[in-house]
Amino acid sequence: MTHGNGTRDGGQLADVSALRPGGHAVVVGGGLAGVTAALALADAKVRVTLLEGRPRLGGLAFSFRRGGLTVDNGQHVYLRCCTAYRWFLDRIGGAALAPVQERLDVPVVDLARPEGRRLGRLRRDALPVPLHLGRSLATYPHLSLAERASVGRAALALKGLDLADPALDTQDFGSWLAAHGQSARAVEALWDLVGVATLNAVAGDASLGLAAMVFKTGLLSDPGAADIGWARVPLGELHDRLARKELDSAGVRTEVRTRVTSIRMNENGGWGVQVPGETLEADAVVLAVPQREAHGLLPEGALDAPENLLEFGTAPILNIHVIYDRKVLATPFLTALGTPVQWVFDRTDASGLREGQYLALSQSTAQNEIDEPVAALRERYLPELERLLPRARGAEVRDFFVTRERTATFAPAPGVGRLRPGARTKAPGLYLAGAWTATGWPATMESAVRSGVGAAGAALGALGRSRGLLPDFFEEAA
Ligand SMILES: Cc1cc2nc3c(=O)[nH]c(=O)nc-3n(C[C@H](O)[C@H](O)[C@H](O)COP(=O)(O)OP(=O)(O)OC[C@H]3O[C@@H](n4cnc5c(N)ncnc54)[C@H](O)[C@@H]3O)c2cc1C
Repeated sequence: MTHGNGTRDGGQLADVSALRPGGHAVVVGGGLAGVTAALALADAKVRVTLLEGRPRLGGLAFSFRRGGLTVDNGQHVYLRCCTAYRWFLDRIGGAALAPVQERLDVPVVDLARPEGRRLGRLRRDALPVPLHLGRSLATYPHLSLAERASVGRAALALKGLDLADPALDTQDFGSWLAAHGQSARAVEALWDLVGVATLNAVAGDASLGLAAMVFKTGLLSDPGAADIGWARVPLGELHDRLARKELDSAGVRTEVRTRVTSIRMNENGGWGVQVPGETLEADAVVLAVPQREAHGLLPEGALDAPENLLEFGTAPILNIHVIYDRKVLATPFLTALGTPVQWVFDRTDASGLREGQYLALSQSTAQNEIDEPVAALRERYLPELERLLPRARGAEVRDFFVTRERTATFAPAPGVGRLRPGARTKAPGLYLAGAWTATGWPATMESAVRSGVGAAGAALGALGRSRGLLPDFFEEAA
């Protein structure tokens, strides 16, 4: 299957070297990191071939068809402070399809109260940091007055942490919160509410370095930093269709269903990238595949400690999809306490559902449920949704299914920072990208895009090309 300027002819990749003068870069892996690297290299006038093993681009953030609907494998959100992912959306012409809410507003429903269901909101005001969250915190009904005051003090202490200090990665966030006076309730009703969704770990399992990065950047950098953005269309519309269109116009040759089996350095110092049936010659290679696959493809000597790539833990995310015959949720999304339900999103319009309502439940840190049979999940979650959404009580469930991503993210555990390599390898012309590389961010779309730009920047230097067209957030990778 061929897209853009590439042609497959009798199983052979035809020579397109006439397309651009100068070096040829091969990008392996068509997730957000690889697509970004390919676009950034092509924008700098490098001839690029992008190779993806699956039939589509988008990697871990994709869509598929089911019974006339378009379904995302997992609900994805980003924050206004995700400047790299927002650049990516702009670059593919998709920003208007995944807008950011005007001002942070998260409905939080607590079901654990003896008096019944109680709604609180996490909002911000148009005031400077940290006052922008002051009013919302002061009136947050899911914490006692003392807990609210202590959250404010911990937030200020967090603001004082130096993210460049490697010692932060040796501690866990839960212990730090406890040492800063945070009750179990404050952790559950506030810190984990945000942290589980962004880190895919509870505070006790998360590196203080990564957690501090998320909270400092998201809540304490700029008043609008935590405003939430999400796709109003299927993810595949952005990460596959629009991305392909832009890759094509940039002159990138994109080959899907093309799995790379090995990468070797030639006698002339160039690279040979092996796909079934042939070898592509390249001056630079960006390896933008998950860490385990990268370990399998990296040539000997490319990293000082390649075994680190096998030491990453991984963490699952489960999505539960429920289609009701009527509207049961009035807001675009909400989150909940006192129930196994975490975040609920309305996916009705995005999926193409014409009648009723389609809800997607995004369940992070799903280690205990990821392998449970659908019937058991149905039995647990439908009554919980009825408790959470009173209108679901009389509604008919037209469909119930789940999507399971067992290795959705790397586990953001203490010590993970030392495992994450930068974009450069010891092999000249070979670069790494992927949400798991050393971007300072947890495994997110933001991290993937940052890594793609970082790897492209490093490759451009080696190819003797200008980095002038790289986006503002680009920083030379170590
Ligand atoms: C259910 C779920 C929910 C999530 N929610 C969020 C969220 O709300 N917000 C957020 O920011 N992030 C979220 N994430 C994380 C985010 O999706 C990922 O961090 C990001 O998409 C990773 O991109 P990547 O390019 O680094 O890697 P990947 O997406 O893993 O891409 C790697 C690509 O390489 C390809 N590949 C592998 N081996 C080969 C080979 N040998 N040859 C050719 N191709 C190969 C793979 O097929 C894949 O397409 C979520 C992830 C999941 C699964």
